[in-house]
Amino acid sequence: MTMQAQEFQESLFIYLQAQGWNLKKARLLTGGGATNKNKKMPFYNYDLSAWDCNKGSQLRKVKNSVCSSCYAMKGNYLRYREGSVGKSHKLHKESLNNGFQWVLGMVYQVLKSDCKYFRFHAAGDLQSYEHALQIINLARLTPSCKYWIPTRETGILKQLRDNKIYIPKNYLPFN
Ligand code: SF4
Repeated sequence: MTMQAQEFQESLFIYLQAQGWNLKKARLLTGGGATNKNKKMPFYNYDLSAWDCNKGSQLRKVKNSVCSSCYAMKGNYLRYREGSVGKSHKLHKESLNNGFQWVLGMVYQVLKSDCKYFRFHAAGDLQSYEHALQIINLARLTPSCKYWIPTRETGILKQLRDNKIYIPKNYLPFN
């Protein structure tokens, strides 16, 4: 990251604090916020429910596709679907409606924790074109962090290309 980008991030964090942002507000506007399940690992995560995957719900019917044996619909994901895991996924999904406030809430958490690596959707997938833009804007505003975003939503990726949306280098979608 360049010195200029570092200064930009520092200024942005100071600005957000001056605007009344804190962790409580950031988590609230992002449906509970990001998690770092394994404190020894540098990764932060943000998941949605695999039951809400749009393309995944079609691919599940295709024999031998990745989605036909989706790990995010088994084990603890299934066991706690009606409990803590399901509730967290539901809050995450609802919070996407907060638009740019969601973006700023995530920005705040990334800068506050000095997060360098972030994985979106170990469970779940992009919900819409607007959702992809939210994560792209997050990546633009936090160049010090690398975002890994596996997705089956090839239609959304095509839409981004067709609309010539600038994808920052730290946004790493793949399918
Ligand atoms: S996209 Fe991923 S999380 Fe969604 S159904 Fe397919 S494998 Fe599961």
